[in-house]
Amino acid sequence: MHLIPNQEEVVSVLRDTGALRDGHFEYSNGLHSNEYLQVALAMRYSQYQRMLSVGLSRLLRANPEIRAILPELSIVAPATAGLPVAYGVCEAIRARQVYWAERERDDQPLRFRQFVEPQPGEPVLLVDDILRSGAKLMALKSMLDAAGAKVVGLAVIIYQPTPDTLDFGSLPLYYLAKLDASYYVHGRACELCKRGEPLEKVWV
Ligand SMILES: [Zn+2]
Repeated sequence: MHLIPNQEEVVSVLRDTGALRDGHFEYSNGLHSNEYLQVALAMRYSQYQRMLSVGLSRLLRANPEIRAILPELSIVAPATAGLPVAYGVCEAIRARQVYWAERERDDQPLRFRQFVEPQPGEPVLLVDDILRSGAKLMALKSMLDAAGAKVVGLAVIIYQPTPDTLDFGSLPLYYLAKLDASYYVHGRACELCKRGEPLEKVWV
């Protein structure tokens, strides 16, 4: 295993832990895929939680701009899947603090816990287990921007872009592995549907 696990090593952890599965899946947004990934299944095991978040932190530490602001850096994550990564990274790079945003119900906006207030000029690294649609991370970035905090980058274990992934512009993106599902399409265009492959609905 490399100090920063490479693509193959990360994928092998995901497969061994059942976090990465082959099949025929329908996501809640209606997209179909031949692959399902839920990093939380790998994060069940503390040795992998540590390996992946420490690997990501080494990637971050290699960047001089990030290294220079570590003592002031806040790690901010969407709850709950981002938390094991956020705490692992924070501990490894000795950042200042971790906080998160959550929603009480699915139809409500993300919010921080009471008395958690991002400060104007506060350097913030957004962290999550995966960047796929980017919807939660974008909402989080807007909340931090509105408070005057300075979002300096985005760090995830897995970058898995889809046709709907939001554009974070010039914000630096750090990730351990990039996974391309062989396709993501709407149901009516799905080859697996046409072949009658059994469909599994996924909610995360
Ligand atoms: Zn399908």
